[in-house]
Amino acid sequence: PEKGTQVLRVDDLRKEFGGLVAVNDINFSLKAGEIMGLIGPNGAGKSTTFNLISGVLPLTAGKVDFLGHRLDTLRARDIAALGVGRTFQHVQLLPSMTVLENVALGAHLRRKVGVLPAVLRSDRRQEAELLHEAARQIQRVGLGDYLYEQAGNLALGQQRIVEIARALAADPVLLLLDEPAAGLRYKEKQDLARVLDQLRQEGMSILLVEHDMDFVMNLTDHIVVMDFGTKLAEGTPSHIQSDPAVLEAYLGG
Ligand code: ADP
Ligand code: MG
Repeated sequence: PEKGTQVLRVDDLRKEFGGLVAVNDINFSLKAGEIMGLIGPNGAGKSTTFNLISGVLPLTAGKVDFLGHRLDTLRARDIAALGVGRTFQHVQLLPSMTVLENVALGAHLRRKVGVLPAVLRSDRRQEAELLHEAARQIQRVGLGDYLYEQAGNLALGQQRIVEIARALAADPVLLLLDEPAAGLRYKEKQDLARVLDQLRQEGMSILLVEHDMDFVMNLTDHIVVMDFGTKLAEGTPSHIQSDPAVLEAYLGG
């Protein structure tokens, strides 16, 4: 999609776990080439929102539109195949496999029609193509020197970037990243921010959950603040930084 096209829109997104309303009728939208931050205290409903969009959990109510497709009626696998990539809050690499192998696993979810049956037939040429594509994505995020390194030997910041490369290998239009900077050192956060900024310039849409306020404020175009499942505020980083309700939620109380 061209820069500025609406890629994702959630309408009155709702998730109840028994009596708990984890996501309370949330609305927001995201354009191509935009990084949106989803912030809020622990338990605000951020990861649940990701799980609803990516089809990991069924919605209680609401709608998710992705480039004209209703995601809320689809299964996680089909949502990924349409072009929604994601990473999870905790690193999910296979530590004893190489960086290349880990990223190639993501390439199996590629959007292109017909690849999956070929993989299931374990076609040699298709396999080589997947590895080639994986290597291309690893180079894209600047880790070309680590193709044959065991993933578990990399620094945490590099592992997080490998996870992004794995998501990229599925050829997404939208990336959902759950706390990619958590636990990283300053320098690693800078490297990560550079990768995400580069992807944005290439036209990728990124939805990012993150607790590091400097990281979020410097990188995002647009921020949605959640608290107890509801949307507390929305706007540009400078707007959010001076919003009384946000200051209250974070600093007051
Ligand atoms: P965040 O990512 O913003 O920290 P979560 O989306 O993980 O918050 O959680 C929001 C609320 O929903 C929390 O109260 C959490 O305990 C609850 N919750 C999350 N997942 C489940 C689940 N699978 N079953 C029951 N409650 C859940
Ligand atoms: Mg979370």
